[in-house]
Amino acid sequence: MSSDAGIRGRRVVGMGWLWMVCFFHLATSLEEILLDTTGETSEIGWTTHPSDGWDEVSVLDDKKRLIRTFEVCNVAEPGQNNWLRTHFIERRGAHRAHVRLRFSVRDCASMRTVASSCKETFTLYYHQSEADVASQELPEWHEGPWTKVDTIAADESFSQDSGACMSLVAVQVFFYKCPAVVKGFASFPETFAGGERTSLVETPGMCVPNAEETSTTGFSGVRLHCNGEGEWMVAIGRCTCKAGYQPADDERACQACPLGFFKISVGDDPCHPCPPHSHTLLPGSRECVCQNRYYRSASDNSDAPCTGIPSAPRDLSYEIVGSTVLLTWRLPRDLGGRKDVFFNVVCKVCPAGSSGPCVRCGDSVQFEPRQVGLTESRVQVSNLLARVQYTFEIQAVNLVTELSSEAPHYATINVSTSQSVPSAVPMMHQVSRTTNSITLSWPQPDQPNGIILDYQLRYFDKAEDEDNSFTLTSETNMATISNLSPGKIYAFQVRARTAVGYGPYSGKMYFQTLMGGERSEMVQDRLPLIVGSALGGLAFLVIAAIAILAIIFKSKRRETPYTDRLQQYIGARGFDYGDVLGCPSTAGLGVKYYIDPSTYEDPNEAIREFAKEIDVSFIKIEEVIGSGEFGEVCFGHLKHPGKREYTVAIKTLKSGYTDEQRREFLSEASIMGQFEHPNVIHLEGVVTKSRPVMIVTEFMENGSLDSFLRQKEGQFSVLQLVGMLRGIAAGMRYLSDMNYVHRDLAARNILVNGNLVCKVSDFGLSRFLEDDASNPTYTGALGCKIPVRWTAPEAVQYRKFTSSSDVWSYGIVMWEVMSYGERPYWDMSNQDVINAIDQDYRLPPPPDCPTVLHLLMLDCWQKERVQRPKFEQIVSALDKIIRKPSALKATGTGSSRPSQPLLSNCPPDFPSLSNAHEWLDAIKMGRYKENFDQAGLITFDVISRMTLEDIQRIGITLVGHQKKILNSIQLMRVHLNQLEPVEV
Ligand code: AMP
Repeated sequence: MSSDAGIRGRRVVGMGWLWMVCFFHLATSLEEILLDTTGETSEIGWTTHPSDGWDEVSVLDDKKRLIRTFEVCNVAEPGQNNWLRTHFIERRGAHRAHVRLRFSVRDCASMRTVASSCKETFTLYYHQSEADVASQELPEWHEGPWTKVDTIAADESFSQDSGACMSLVAVQVFFYKCPAVVKGFASFPETFAGGERTSLVETPGMCVPNAEETSTTGFSGVRLHCNGEGEWMVAIGRCTCKAGYQPADDERACQACPLGFFKISVGDDPCHPCPPHSHTLLPGSRECVCQNRYYRSASDNSDAPCTGIPSAPRDLSYEIVGSTVLLTWRLPRDLGGRKDVFFNVVCKVCPAGSSGPCVRCGDSVQFEPRQVGLTESRVQVSNLLARVQYTFEIQAVNLVTELSSEAPHYATINVSTSQSVPSAVPMMHQVSRTTNSITLSWPQPDQPNGIILDYQLRYFDKAEDEDNSFTLTSETNMATISNLSPGKIYAFQVRARTAVGYGPYSGKMYFQTLMGGERSEMVQDRLPLIVGSALGGLAFLVIAAIAILAIIFKSKRRETPYTDRLQQYIGARGFDYGDVLGCPSTAGLGVKYYIDPSTYEDPNEAIREFAKEIDVSFIKIEEVIGSGEFGEVCFGHLKHPGKREYTVAIKTLKSGYTDEQRREFLSEASIMGQFEHPNVIHLEGVVTKSRPVMIVTEFMENGSLDSFLRQKEGQFSVLQLVGMLRGIAAGMRYLSDMNYVHRDLAARNILVNGNLVCKVSDFGLSRFLEDDASNPTYTGALGCKIPVRWTAPEAVQYRKFTSSSDVWSYGIVMWEVMSYGERPYWDMSNQDVINAIDQDYRLPPPPDCPTVLHLLMLDCWQKERVQRPKFEQIVSALDKIIRKPSALKATGTGSSRPSQPLLSNCPPDFPSLSNAHEWLDAIKMGRYKENFDQAGLITFDVISRMTLEDIQRIGITLVGHQKKILNSIQLMRVHLNQLEPVEV
């Protein structure tokens, strides 16, 4: 029970007369006391009315302390009206006063005598006044001038006989106030509660030192509200610590960031330690300044670490090709803590014998891609003078270099253009592979430019970053790379080293280790060396094998009459047996022979026997890449469940085909399916159980050889071309060993994969049968079409197709390859070709064709087929060349063979040419007309004096084109009687 009353005036009076006990209780909040009789021991002296009513008496309380109380107990007398009036009470700014009374009243029922005036309640009044003007009479002793607060009764009663009827033990008058407080980094002053119980007194606050207001509400100002019971509530706005200061003391203070710490912005975040290479000079820092020799670039944030300039580039090396130097280096060890790094090239010419200072290179020196701000670690410097000592500085710079007073760090290298490192190794061959190793061999570079000391092989897992590469040094041109993972594709590059330094790395070639579970594999006769070691043993075994096979075939013939035609090839190779014994190859022991699928009564049986049926759902066709004879050729993927995915080529049989066409289409698969050789296109399988019918083969990224070479004219080294020819010869050797006669060997029927590996393809026989007037390559009477330009004379004249006629065609393929896809016999008619061959005319060497290769071609074009080399011998000859490329140096028409080179419009007929443009057109170099014009090279007289350097200087960069033009210039000189032809 409480007895509260709002006090409008300045005086509060209380009275009552009943015996009861009552306790008042109030929540803990700050109270300002206006009146308190608790603990009074001397006279209080309040006014009473009437004078015999209330008595002030000293009594002992329950703890035996003396206290002053007011008592009244006139219960026996009627008409009691006893008033007790306090002194005047100062309001002291209070808006609302609270009264707390401690009293006891006696239960009327407990009166022993008749108590006509007995009451168990009393009434509390107040009167407001501006001044203490009360007297014994005024305000009057009745309710009129007084305002009633409440009639008060005790909330608990018990019988007690203390003597008095009512006893007022203590009176307190007070008001509530909210205490001064610091909250949310703002301080608020003490604030008196409002006049109403529900009122909220708004109090503005002030941010503590080093804090500032943050407004989340859009209103400015920080405010708290004091409620009617002296409690703070409803905060509006808040303060937060300034930059350089962090919260402390439970949001009551903002403390300066200590040294070494910073706080960049206003907020409740703590201070952070300075980023690397920065520090603070004073506490309370909003950012850290960079230490000596460290900087932030204009684009760096002020809380970013400070960074330095990069250290010098590492491992600067060079390669020289003619007047061009290729400089390469590795990133600096220390990038100064930054990601950006650029390189600038400084080129200096230094006088010979180091007499005198170096001077900057002239403007004619060109830098590719540029001289400054290089982002890559390589630059090509061209147009350098011959026999000059150059010094190249490669500076490493970054975005803080210009802020630094330090000069950029650089690597330096001296290059003398009179020295040359070896040229690139043209290609690599895989000799063998296991699940964790690959053995590779390679020929020496075209231009060793000195004694080769060793080779450095670089390799990395294709699936990983090139930077994780490994190197291996080999003193021979063969190396086994071990510790590889099974079934992984690795990229390999090799470079040769002489006393001058390393040559450039070869192009990347990819080889794959065997999958776990696969048998170790020796790639088909990669090196004659390997085959040679087994020669003696094989000689006997081959005879035995053939004898056994003959028996098997004979006995089989009885079971099935369709195999006998197969034997005609064996029978026809009486001479070849001896030859095979002399030059054994892998087709010896355990060899399989090709079976002509047309000998099967049911062609579907041949298909079932030689080609795997593929579930069409394993094939994903991606795009059409060409059109074959029977339908589209597509690129796609093949994935057998649980196996890895392969890229494949898919030949489709167009709808509306006849049974005959289906048979012919699938006959190619029945043939191809019998072959397994790295240089013969591999059949994955066929789809015959759904439509369209498909033949699925391995995918050859570069398509057919003739068009590939035309696209890449002049872009391969001679050795690379020889490598391709070697692959084709190896594939043909395998086919001829299988007793398969191709009949249509031509560059258009060779496919090239991404590693430049050439594979023999096109095993269909239909083209020889179809009467397709739209294809002039195959001419002849109906049912007997022949690709005249590629076909040996005996095959053209009386259909004598043998492996030796394939060798003739191979010679034509050699010519196609060495002339980058030129049409054999140019635009001569087929009849003219037949006549010319009959009169012993043969194709001349293509431009730049090494003599040794032309001689091999001429061998293939021997009139007598028995005099032509076997494919085995061709492979050996090419291997020899690959191992000793110096044999390729001699070029030109210097053949001493009795065959007559065909004279045609190639090479150019100088008397008929009137100017440089016509000449360039005649040698198919018309694209360089502008280069010649701009250099003022117009007359033959001037052009005939050009050197290789001159050709390079006018911007002809392709080595093949440079050679082509230089050769023609040689002939031009002969024509102009300037000199005799020389072999270059
Ligand atoms: P074909 O019917 O065999 O003469 O093939 C027609 C064309 O399709 C060829 O000239 C190639 O361009 C292309 N082609 C055929 N087979 C493949 C293959 N396995 N990989 C890539 N392209 C191929």
